[in-house]
Amino acid sequence: MRITFLGAADTVTGSRHLVEIGGRRVLLDCGMFQGFKVFRERNWTPPEPALHGLDAVVLSHAHLDHCGWLPVLMRHCAPASVYASPATRDLAEVLLLDSAHLQEEDARRANRLGYSRHAKALPLYTTAEARRTIGRIRALEPGVAHALDGAAPVPARARAHAAATVRGQATAPAPSPSAAATTAAGAADTTRAAGPWAEAEPAAGTSRRRGGSRQGGVQVELTPAGHLLGACSVTLRAGGETLVYSGDLGRSADLLMPPPRRITRADVLIIESTYGNRRHPAEDPAERLGAIIRSTIDHGGSVLLPSFAVGRAQALLLVLQRLKAAGTLPRGLPIFLDSPMAAQATALYRSHRDLLRVDGGEIEGLLDGVRVVTTPAESARLSRLRYPAVIISASGMATGGRVLHHLKALAPDARHHIVFAGFQVAGSRGARLVAGATEVKIHGEYVPVRAAVTHLEGFSGHADRDELMAWLRGFRTPPRQTFVVHGDPEASDTLRMRIQDELGWAVRVPAHGSTFEP
Ligand SMILES: [Zn+2]
Repeated sequence: MRITFLGAADTVTGSRHLVEIGGRRVLLDCGMFQGFKVFRERNWTPPEPALHGLDAVVLSHAHLDHCGWLPVLMRHCAPASVYASPATRDLAEVLLLDSAHLQEEDARRANRLGYSRHAKALPLYTTAEARRTIGRIRALEPGVAHALDGAAPVPARARAHAAATVRGQATAPAPSPSAAATTAAGAADTTRAAGPWAEAEPAAGTSRRRGGSRQGGVQVELTPAGHLLGACSVTLRAGGETLVYSGDLGRSADLLMPPPRRITRADVLIIESTYGNRRHPAEDPAERLGAIIRSTIDHGGSVLLPSFAVGRAQALLLVLQRLKAAGTLPRGLPIFLDSPMAAQATALYRSHRDLLRVDGGEIEGLLDGVRVVTTPAESARLSRLRYPAVIISASGMATGGRVLHHLKALAPDARHHIVFAGFQVAGSRGARLVAGATEVKIHGEYVPVRAAVTHLEGFSGHADRDELMAWLRGFRTPPRQTFVVHGDPEASDTLRMRIQDELGWAVRVPAHGSTFEP
């Protein structure tokens, strides 16, 4: 087994872990870098030679730092298959299209206003490219082992003896018609680069084209991780070896999602460390949010909730509905959801409600009395509101999207309150505001910040340091090697030390671009 860490290895974004296992090359996640410019610039670097001719990409979940670079990879490399859970595929469609749209808009604005440093600003990828990418994602049912190249699950009998028999297993289950079409398309447009990896493994691509005599050699299994609708950990098995990649892990008591499912066995483990050095506050974030909104509207101000459109917006809506039902907030308090993507995602949360821990009635009622703002003109009018209101708008770290117009309008006025309800990656506008910035640059101009700014970390969708340790304790035997990724350096190293000291496991924090044969 060989692993190369091509992202999320010295930062919390850009998850891309290349795993060579059982003669196959699989990329776990294909995330976009976010935050500091030095990281964002990596998005513009063409894929490494190692990423050409991949057998598969497996997505853990639909957040852009895990799937947002897929259209770029597709443009250059065309991996044979892309897999994700059904809900992740649905959410990825919403997120990737929005991402492409935002980039096209930003490029247009930069060109119009002339604030790009480049002669002509270009989007990282277009809506058309995002659409083509989405068409390539194949859904894998969680909780079942699948042969990597087949769409159908591995039969239970084969699965029970997976570790012992996988090398000799020669037959892949017959793919479904749509999967066959995807595979054919994948084989047709796969171009193998003459990079070192392609030379080292010439048989992988040819065997697939010849009918896949080596198919079924690697199994993939998704395990619900609680972090976001559809989010899963990924297990790869081949030749008696098991690699587990945690993806992003959720909390034991999330508002919407059940806790992450435990995994008991791994020879090699890759674990995230977003909150590797922090504990979530014990306070109830809903209560705190209720108090903030109450006092802000009593003083004639409005509350702006920059929010991720997917997951966080639905959690905030749930809390606001509960606060209204409990009488903490006036029933008539205007709530605006200014994010067409959040409205779309809310519909997906409804259609996948069996994956949630909330009862159906509450999910149905998420938008009761909420005004969903659809057009940009309506959104612009909202910035000039003359009465107290609650505005939920994306993006959650105020890095782009409609929330920027609201920030421009509300930040200079001390009556208002801006509440960030999720993780703010270092270098983002949200992180600067939370750290107490007195001015913030938006669309090339400096905006003074006089409104109150609060960070409610209790709404986080990430396991904290103790919840990460609890998930790790679910393994019955220590993995031979554990890698800590997806964290700011201090978070990753703190979790590494805890794993070493409290569990006694072999553990390391890999550097960006490093390769291991654990
Ligand atoms: Zn995530």
